[in-house]
Amino acid sequence: MVLHIGCIPGDGIGPEIVRETRKVLDRVAAKYGHEIEYSEILLGGASIDVHGIPLTQEAIEAAKGSDAVLMGSIGGDAATSPWYQLPPDKRPEAGLLAIRKALGLFANLRPALLYQELAGACPLKEEISRAGFDMLIMRELTGGLYFGERRTTVENGMRTAVDTLTYNEEEIRRIAVKAFDIARKRRNRVTSVDKANVLDSSRLWRDVVNHVAKEYPDVELSHMLVDNCAMQLVKDPAQFDVILTENMFGDILSDEASMVTGSIGMLASASLNDTKFGLYEPSHGSAPDIAGKDIANPIATVLSASMMLRYSFDLDREADAMESAVQQVLKDGYRTGDIMSAGCRQVGCTEMGDLLAERI
Ligand code: NAD
Repeated sequence: MVLHIGCIPGDGIGPEIVRETRKVLDRVAAKYGHEIEYSEILLGGASIDVHGIPLTQEAIEAAKGSDAVLMGSIGGDAATSPWYQLPPDKRPEAGLLAIRKALGLFANLRPALLYQELAGACPLKEEISRAGFDMLIMRELTGGLYFGERRTTVENGMRTAVDTLTYNEEEIRRIAVKAFDIARKRRNRVTSVDKANVLDSSRLWRDVVNHVAKEYPDVELSHMLVDNCAMQLVKDPAQFDVILTENMFGDILSDEASMVTGSIGMLASASLNDTKFGLYEPSHGSAPDIAGKDIANPIATVLSASMMLRYSFDLDREADAMESAVQQVLKDGYRTGDIMSAGCRQVGCTEMGDLLAERI
């Protein structure tokens, strides 16, 4: 198979972690008989340095022309970088928002998996972390409260602010379909999270999700109220497989789920549209404080690339190989500085990439 991958190294540690991820991907391709064609795309600060703007039309076309995009991270240190002297719509992050919009990415996926080797970093009690967890939060990304009408008015000297949470059936249906499809590649369970005891938008959400579930008799669906979900994530995270939820609930719950893993350098993410296309990137930022020092952890990006193989290319065996390599490296006691613990051997970004590639 020929894989056309758009590649956005970006800023800060982005180029380092993407370089190491490509090393691992190239090993996978060589082993399983695939060919990868990368097209390099400038975004964020890297694009400002060359073109004066964070995203060009050319970059959008290059992303659209690829089967999937792998990204490092975007942005610099706001206190010191000249990029932040520019007006807000010309800064690095504006490019990221604009490319997500141009690509129609409405589904955000964030897996939260606790590796037993890193259980010491998990802030939960040992009797909970011992059970481990492996969940994926599927968050709607382009609707709901963050995109609804809003206004602030003043009457008789009193300010009143209004935000609106709007979803139509189609917006709910398309993300539910994604969640059920992805559950089929995992453990066949979806927990749909809403606030149906209070909100009309949640009652519609629940109704449409129930409807979609009829097309997936092999996937078990349950519903949970968002306040209960926030508690269950710290009480019994092992119960979850795919959590499907709207934009704001997902924003909050996905950060909570990330935190319970305890390791920012390990967290992958993906944003999908209604085709097989996706933008795959680590959950963390560009870490300007450690850029260029060869100490960044490339694993979140490697795991993002494994999601790319699984969800954009349906190469499950190859994705499994990448995830097993991560597991094996941890088992063999290698750690980058951010996940270092006593008795392990500390390695840099390049060496971690080499160790992962060797284990494919
Ligand atoms: P950050 O995630 O970049 O860094 C937070 C802390 O975690 C830092 O101490 C950093 O050194 C550490 N860290 C992050 N990733 C690491 C890794 N792979 N290995 C080892 N340590 C790692 O968050 P921040 O400092 O708030 O943001 C820095 C820049 O990143 C800002 O410009 C911000 O806008 C941008 N950002 C970009 C994205 C994105 O590209 N999607 C996401 C978040 C933040």
